[in-house]
Parts: sequence; C-alpha cells; structure tokens
Amino acid sequence: MVTGPGADIYRTLGVNPIIAASGSTTAYGGSKLRPEVKDAINKAAGTMVNMDELNHAAGKIIAQVTGAEAGFVSSGAAGGLILQAAAVMAGNDPAKMNRLPDATGMKNEFIIHRSHRFPYDQCYTATGGTFREIGDGRRCHPWELEDALNENTAAVVYLFSPFITRRALPFEEVVEIAHGHDVPVIVDAASFVPPRANLKRFIAQGADMVQYSGGKAVRGPQGTGILCGRADLIEAAFANASPHQFIGRGMKVSKENIIGLVEAVQIFVEEDEEAETKRYNEMCQQVVDALIEVPGLEATVEHDDYNYLVPHALLTFTTEWRGPSRDDVFDAMVDGDPPIYLSNINNPDELAVDPLNLDDEELEIVIRRLHEVLLD
Ligand SMILES: *Cc1c(COP(=O)(O)O)cnc(C)c1O
Repeated sequence: MVTGPGADIYRTLGVNPIIAASGSTTAYGGSKLRPEVKDAINKAAGTMVNMDELNHAAGKIIAQVTGAEAGFVSSGAAGGLILQAAAVMAGNDPAKMNRLPDATGMKNEFIIHRSHRFPYDQCYTATGGTFREIGDGRRCHPWELEDALNENTAAVVYLFSPFITRRALPFEEVVEIAHGHDVPVIVDAASFVPPRANLKRFIAQGADMVQYSGGKAVRGPQGTGILCGRADLIEAAFANASPHQFIGRGMKVSKENIIGLVEAVQIFVEEDEEAETKRYNEMCQQVVDALIEVPGLEATVEHDDYNYLVPHALLTFTTEWRGPSRDDVFDAMVDGDPPIYLSNINNPDELAVDPLNLDDEELEIVIRRLHEVLLD
C-alpha cells in the first residue's frame, strides 16, 4: 500500500494510489511535482494578478529557456497544439478567430507525413483544419512535400516523439522547403525532453513554433505545456487562448499553474543531466540485475536519443519464455497491492520500467513484485 499524507488524501475518496513505473504517463498521474513547484503554486494561489501581464511575463521566461522569440504556457502540450493550429489559421484577426472551427476565408490545410500521424493529431484539426498527407511508412521524397504545398497550406506539421519511424524527410529539409513557400513549420516535441538540449534544438533549426509538455519530464503542473516560437505566431496563439473568449477559452491555465510551470522549467534547465542519467541508469541496472537469471527473459538497460530518452529497464519476453504472457504479467502487476503500472507502449513482447517517477523505496517494491510475478 502506498502510504503518507498524499496517499491519504486520495484514499479518503476511495481512490487507491499507485506506483507509476511507466514514466510520465498522463493516465497514471503524469509526473510527481517538484517540491519547489508545490511551494510556488501555494504562494501564487492566494494573490490576484492581471492574466495578460502574467502570461507575457511567463512567456519571456519560456523564450529564454528555449531560445525562441516568444513563449506561452498552454494547457498541456495537447492544448498548445490547438493554439498552434488556431495561430497559423486565424492569426490574431478577431473576425477569423471568432469563426473557428469554421475555416471560411482561411488557409486550413496541414501537411503531415503519414508516418507522423499520431494519437494527438486531432488537435490540429480541432480548429477546422484538414490534413494533406505525404510519404508512406517507408519514405517520403522532397517532391512530395513540394507538390503538397499550395495556397491553402496553413502549416507543415512535424512530430518528434519516441517510437516513431525516422523515415520522414529530415527536419531541416522540411524547414527549407516550407520556408521557400512562406509556410510555417510547427512542431510537436511534447515528450522529447530530456535531453534538455532539445528545448532549444528545433527552434535553432528553424521551427516556427514548438510545443513541449510541462507535466512530463519537466515535472511542472500536469495540466501545463510549453509553447514557444516566432513572436507574431505566439502573439496569435495568445490572442486565441484563455482568458480571451475565443477557441482556446476552454483550455484555461490558472495563475498558480503558470507560476508552477515557470518555476519547474527554470529548475529543469539548471539540473545536472549527467548526474540524473547516471542515477536513472543505476536504478535500471538494479532491475536488470534482479531479473537477469530469469530463463527466457532478456533484461537490458536502454538509453538513446530517439526512443529511450530517459534510461529504461527493458524486459523482452523471448521465444524461450515459458511463464505467464507479457500481458498477464502487466495485469498481475496492476492487480497487486499497490497497483504497479509498467510501460507497455512499445513492442508486444516487451515491458519496461521507467524510473522517472520512482523513488528508491518504490523501485524496491517494483523489483520485488516483478520477481514474484515472473517466477510464480
Ligand atoms: C504527451 C504528448 C502529448 C500531450 O501532452 P500533454 O502535456 O499531456 O497534453 C502530445 N503529443 C505528444 C507527441 C506526446 O507525447
């Protein structure tokens, strides 16, 4: 059983706290908030401010940490994608902003690689946009992008995310072609940090707007996102957003969450990434050491720049595996006390432990339970 005052406040409602060994999964609570962020939220909550002024001030901090001209605190990364779409379609013209999601009189086509279609891409059509797809699962030629660009193109969408194919056109080539037609390139890199360098990377490579999550590895409030980019486009995103009464009004970010995000991202960029990675690697190695002898199971520590941005302990159920199925192992971990959620978003013969939201005590429980379930 998960214990402590935090656990009690959920248990009072009959909600059983869990161990999230899956990383910053929104469905399992996002991430643990930094103590400094809790403190900042607490202080900010009881004092009133003009929200336009606060949004602009927070935007300046985001601009600093991303190297972009401007920034904005969005409602999660997903909310920020809707604002990206609204900004490139309607700009800050109130007549157009008021008409969304009716796109009459606006450019409304978003060019996207077929290999970049993803579960959040509905955010780009929520404002009345439509997709024009290029490429296939295996490749995309520059002429396909050239051919897709037309007078209705609102933007080219580009996705940076773990576990997608890297066979899309290289990002810098997309920027060059799109900019040659005066079309902005808008990026979803919601979960593509760490490495912290990625907070500046895509802006430096010419992206017009980039979106990150505030509630994942940055460990700000779960409901926040970091939107950054060209000053005119961010100003348009801001115009379409709460507190203004346009399409973004339903995606309000509270003053205390804005303060929380600003606090979190400033701490995040100052952290010692090498030391953090070393600690995560050691945690994963403990899992691997405990399970290395399990016959038919392969246990490895994975860390790279594309899929395992945070080190993971990867468990592969090989053809020699004779125990319960991979899905049954996942379910057995969830059905125990406390419920443990492993990462299961990858290959169907793999499960993983992501240390991002685990303390040492929780890691020990995860290892003990894995041992029980796998050797039962
Ligand atoms: C997590 C994620 C989102 C959504 O982020 P939230 O901050 O939870 O809204 C969007 N796009 C991608 C690629 C993601 O990984």
